[in-house]
Amino acid sequence: MIKTHEVIVIGGGHAGCEAAAASSRMGCSTLLITNNLSKIGEMSCNPSIGGLGKGHLVREIDALDGIMAKAIDKSGIQFRMLNASKGPAVRGLRVQADRKLYKKAINQLLKSEKNLHIIEDEVIDIHLSKKDHKVKGVVLSKGKKIVPCGTIILTTGTFLNGIIHVGEKKTNAGRIGEKATYGLSKTFKKLGFKLGRMKTGTPPRIDKKTINLKNLKKQFSDKTIIPFSFLTKKVEINQICCFITTTNKKTHKIIKKNIKKSAIYSGQIKSTGPRYCPSIEDKVVKFKDKDKHHIFLEPEGLDTNVIYPNGISTSLPENIQEKMVKSIKGLENARILQYGYAIEYDYIDPLQLSNSLETNKIHNLFLAGQINGTTGYEEAAAQGIIAGINAACKIKKKNKFILSRSEAYIGVLINDLVNRGVTEPYRMFTSRAEYRLILRSENADLRLTSKGLEIGCISNE
Ligand code: FAD
Repeated sequence: MIKTHEVIVIGGGHAGCEAAAASSRMGCSTLLITNNLSKIGEMSCNPSIGGLGKGHLVREIDALDGIMAKAIDKSGIQFRMLNASKGPAVRGLRVQADRKLYKKAINQLLKSEKNLHIIEDEVIDIHLSKKDHKVKGVVLSKGKKIVPCGTIILTTGTFLNGIIHVGEKKTNAGRIGEKATYGLSKTFKKLGFKLGRMKTGTPPRIDKKTINLKNLKKQFSDKTIIPFSFLTKKVEINQICCFITTTNKKTHKIIKKNIKKSAIYSGQIKSTGPRYCPSIEDKVVKFKDKDKHHIFLEPEGLDTNVIYPNGISTSLPENIQEKMVKSIKGLENARILQYGYAIEYDYIDPLQLSNSLETNKIHNLFLAGQINGTTGYEEAAAQGIIAGINAACKIKKKNKFILSRSEAYIGVLINDLVNRGVTEPYRMFTSRAEYRLILRSENADLRLTSKGLEIGCISNE
């Protein structure tokens, strides 16, 4: 006999972890099923949380007792308040993380959830009742076992039919070194859902020991550190500095000469990428008048030599990435530890969702995160907490938990997704919130915590 769970969450990324923690806090027996236990809370790209608009989402998640803010306070190695000289409404906390410590903190927070169990497996299908098209369970890859449940929250990120591109080379994968998911895309097509394709990308990673940091500008943490979580009294962790360099005319010449070899410009990738997080190829082509672009050399942790060069996401072939990187000041002798790549994946048109993130077609099936056409950890986590609360509300026969556009950035995000849909990967900005003067990140608790207490997603502590 396999135990029935009230809520099953598929995927241990940012949406899945927040969803699982929320439904557990709501008192529902919850099972998180994820491909790879060691990747729970993995940051697929830049090890940082927050930023403009995104920082507001993190504070709102925290105001509802979510886990993202607590985890970054335990793992943040550079805290900076962006837009500090501007008005309070548009300030945004951005924190660079020690990748390993962030994952550790997320795992500890999940472990402390009494109603949550976690297993490693791949979900290949969803089991529906023939009579009323309600979810009945999920089908696991191992032994094709069916695990029964009341509600499902699907949060599979970039894994549905994922293809990685480096120059002309194509590999089926959900993320570097992790296999893609195929079964669930077939399930959604069979059920008549509208799916689309999107793409995103990541820069090469560089060995710090091979970088000449001597003449590069340094960027430090804020002198007074403001934690992300309303519950954190003091950030205890050591703070580090980043280094700033730029591309130059030589770099741009290398990119222009080889532009047809980039997967984005050769026609190999046809789907749309994040406009506000462009690849270095895009920057060179679209901003022809600029002869340099900033690169932030960000350490990926306290005890690692891996550097994340923020600003040079690319899908150029490996040999061209080598030339491009070595043309940059400070990186003349740099050793690439992992090449940059682009990834294409299926997303599900969010117009097929209600404002609780339940699908209109299938009762008790909720979708959250990048699968809904968004980009970013914070956007994923914000949807995760709402899907987790609403899946639990469904079980407990409570009304939906909906935040309006005038109450929260989370309300803006979900309202935009389910009413306007997406034409490119959706990310949050303060400019999307028409009530931004009252939706400040520092008053998220005043706006939301009483609502969270009322619905039951906030622990007594
Ligand atoms: P993910 O974090 O992708 O997590 C999905 C989880 O589902 C994983 O744990 C996976 O193992 C699990 N899973 C998948 N299929 C199954 C299955 N069938 N059964 C069980 N488990 C399954 N965001 C930005 O804001 N800026 C960027 O520059 C940026 N660049 C990126 C570059 C790359 C290469 C990638 C891959 C992502 C990038 N992102 C970027 C996006 C960011 O990583 C995502 O928005 C965020 O991680 C989405 O969170 P999620 O929880 O929806 O999915």
